[in-house]
Amino acid sequence: MHPLSIDKLSYWEKKTYFSITDFIVIGAGIVGYSTALYLRERHPDASILILERGYLPSGASSKNAGFACFGSPTELYDDLQHIPENQVWDTLEMRWNGLQRLFSIIPKEKFDFQQNGSWDLIHSNTSQNELLKDDFIAYLNDNAEKITGAKNIYSEDKNVSNTFGFNHISTSYFNRLEGQIDTSQLNKAFYQKTIAQNINCLFGVNVNHFQEDSNNILLDTNIGEIKGAHLFICTNGLASEFFPEKVKPARAQVLITEPIPNLALKGTFHYQKGYYYFRNIDNRILLGGGRNLDFNGETTTEFGLTEHIQASLEELLYNTITPSYKPKIEHRWSGIMGVGDEKKPIIEKISNRIAIGVRMGGMGVAIGSQVGKQLSELF
Ligand SMILES: Cc1cc2nc3c(=O)[nH]c(=O)nc-3n(C[C@H](O)[C@H](O)[C@H](O)COP(=O)(O)OP(=O)(O)OC[C@H]3O[C@@H](n4cnc5c(N)ncnc54)[C@H](O)[C@@H]3O)c2cc1C
Repeated sequence: MHPLSIDKLSYWEKKTYFSITDFIVIGAGIVGYSTALYLRERHPDASILILERGYLPSGASSKNAGFACFGSPTELYDDLQHIPENQVWDTLEMRWNGLQRLFSIIPKEKFDFQQNGSWDLIHSNTSQNELLKDDFIAYLNDNAEKITGAKNIYSEDKNVSNTFGFNHISTSYFNRLEGQIDTSQLNKAFYQKTIAQNINCLFGVNVNHFQEDSNNILLDTNIGEIKGAHLFICTNGLASEFFPEKVKPARAQVLITEPIPNLALKGTFHYQKGYYYFRNIDNRILLGGGRNLDFNGETTTEFGLTEHIQASLEELLYNTITPSYKPKIEHRWSGIMGVGDEKKPIIEKISNRIAIGVRMGGMGVAIGSQVGKQLSELF
């Protein structure tokens, strides 16, 4: 039991934080914060409590690569091969609208949103018939315009290697509307807004399990039992601990270089259908991916790094991204995503008092706040 378990708290503390709460949200990620903020809009006088297991959020929202992306050409092409066409465009629409919603909750300047565009990089040994055709790019532009209202979002950029000094890259597909953010500033801004909206937020509280009686939800936590009238589970990949059949954890590994003098790289870059991704940040390169090298091993809720995947990131960095300069790797980390059979989130009531919003895949920056809104409307 925790040294400061609930039964040892003062009367005041118990009254402020642990009277039976109207709405409890588990998880202080983009989805949990958004859910709590939209609950506040719908229920101005309700008591709302967010419980987070880490001293900082400890899933994906403050560990990700900070791509504000809604659909790159090779990803769309790939999806169209095995997902019905209307669903592919529904997903793009959800991501686009989700980003606009995010900007409406937290002003872009607060998390350094920069719209530098994104490039889908194509390896020089890709055969001619695997390249995307002009009429496919035109098809993407027509459909994306119907959703975004913006013309000619996509184009081919054959000059990308000259611009950024890459090796082994013959061409690229450019998305002029994608951007990049400061992931940690976004989380901090969410936290600040949550507190300003009179939502209690407790860190270091792990929910072990929960049960429902006729009037309440009872949460068994590391600090004791907590009661609430309604529960929202926003724990994404970690929700696999509660619902292994609905969502699987997917670890993603990342590295960041030391500052690089005169770094030309500016923007976000996808490679090998998005299995690798990199961007500039503070004159450094942040690079992640390689999960496809070991899907089984990376199906885990444990933070950690593996030699094999880190070596593949270094190989890509030194041979392709910065072939003329060998920056030192300054730091490496991992985060845990939530994935499943389908490329869409689960937003559903599982009882009259409990709802879940999980399985954001690699799209949570874009869709997380929209998921939070829909989730908050379930009660
Ligand atoms: C390395 C990496 C790179 C990524 N890059 C991008 C990107 O560039 N663009 C993009 O759109 N998406 C990206 N993603 C995915 C994106 O970060 C996630 O989809 C999104 O952050 C999920 O948000 P969430 O709120 O659903 O979950 P999370 O941010 O994981 O939040 C869930 C929270 O619940 C807490 N929690 C879990 N279990 C419990 C419990 N039992 N009790 C209490 N608290 C609990 C966790 O500690 C965690 O803080 C990336 C992910 C990773 C890991």
